Amino acid sequence: MMVRTRFAPSPTGDLHVGNARTALFNALYAAGHGGQFVLRIEDTDAERSSAEKEITLLRDLGWLGLRWQEGPDAGGPHGPYRQSERGALYRTYIKKLTDMGMTYPCFCTPAELALARKAQLAAGRPPRYVGTCAHLSAAETAARTAKGLKPALRFRVPGDGQTEFTDLVRGPQRFAHRDIGDFVICRADGSPAFFFSNGLDDALMGITHVLRGEDHLANTPRQLLIMKALDLTAPHYGHLSMVVGQDGQPLSKRHGSASLRDLIAQNYMPLAVMNYMARLGHAYIDMDNKLMSFAELAAQFDMARISHSPAHFDENHLRHWQKLAIANTSDDELWIWMKHGADAAGGTTLESIVPKNKRQLFVQTVRPNVLLSAELKSDYKPQFDVLHWARTLFGDHDFMMKDGLAALSDAGAEYFKKALTGLADNPEYKPFVDALASTTQLRGPDLYKPLRAALTGDTHGPELKQIWELLGQECVRQRLEKAAEIAKG
Ligand code: GLU
Repeated sequence: MMVRTRFAPSPTGDLHVGNARTALFNALYAAGHGGQFVLRIEDTDAERSSAEKEITLLRDLGWLGLRWQEGPDAGGPHGPYRQSERGALYRTYIKKLTDMGMTYPCFCTPAELALARKAQLAAGRPPRYVGTCAHLSAAETAARTAKGLKPALRFRVPGDGQTEFTDLVRGPQRFAHRDIGDFVICRADGSPAFFFSNGLDDALMGITHVLRGEDHLANTPRQLLIMKALDLTAPHYGHLSMVVGQDGQPLSKRHGSASLRDLIAQNYMPLAVMNYMARLGHAYIDMDNKLMSFAELAAQFDMARISHSPAHFDENHLRHWQKLAIANTSDDELWIWMKHGADAAGGTTLESIVPKNKRQLFVQTVRPNVLLSAELKSDYKPQFDVLHWARTLFGDHDFMMKDGLAALSDAGAEYFKKALTGLADNPEYKPFVDALASTTQLRGPDLYKPLRAALTGDTHGPELKQIWELLGQECVRQRLEKAAEIAKG
């Protein structure tokens, strides 16, 4: 049987990291089994859903590198793929259940339901529908309808027995029917309830495996009951533990990043995010932890290796993958990525700072020193910022880092005088440094640190030889002169 998985987001806001991971796991599982991945938009909540949010959602999933074989944009044989367009189907199946006597109209008001719920909780019982409307006579129903009251429709849960299933992640599960209570499948306004539309669509779309958040675990027996009543084949369900922050609390904006948008805004690379997320609550066997493509991640994805405990989102780990992704990107692609990140940070564009003929060397030089659009982060580290290096190498060079200044004064004016003299005879980097070493009798950091500080304003950064080439002899001379001034004090 062909494996078919799906992701079924509600377009009500930015895609949470946890949901993005759910989407990725489903896509990986399908791809790893030569199957299909379906995107279904659950937009039955008309007030909170919007077309713009759906567009952003699709774009963000695409950004992450996910591709779906069926969906609202891709089409497919099981459409429509937006729940808001499936009303006729829902009505058909609700009628089927009603014709079988499996539903009944419920006129209870939200206030009445809340009261009953409170009483149950106070008595230490799990809240469930008490069955007020379960046995209304036809006359009673007619009388209320005549008064203009609009009923919701409840599904009649069998009084005895239990529903069992084996969760793909958590193993055997058992829910006693008496704890479930008759539940609403169609609201008073005619819109289908989540339990109904979600489960029905999975069955109608031929979904074989569903990985979703553990908050849905208790919904599963209800959905299985509906599918059983309708004689439909249910998918296998697996419930994923939450993604939490380092403090163990549900991941939220407070932790820095919580949505895929947040990560995109910081200029993370899709492959870095994908590699990190594929390991967020799922372990790969390969110990060398190398960066993998979607296909490689999919081939080794294994449900048996999904963790039962909450996954801790750790931005340091994500940055590790970002480093690997950057190292794996070609110069041309890296330039585009740098440009995008720098431009998004606002102000000047990278293109206006870096001369065209020096682009490639610039990319090769600062490659090990860039990580994110660091200016967007609160813990701004200029050493990792593309714009910082562009300005340092091609701008006015009018700022010095604290360490840089200290290195200049430690070296003293004499050092730079010798450097300037040496520069006249040695325009190339290597002979220049050799000459400086012999005139100053310095080696190692004592030799290189002041030079680096003079040329870049800092004591850490890219290879000096490449910086030298990027600056050119005239610029090197000016910066050494300026350093000599500063060192004089
Ligand atoms: N629309 C539901 C959600 O976003 C889908 C849950 C599911 O995957 O079954 O929570």
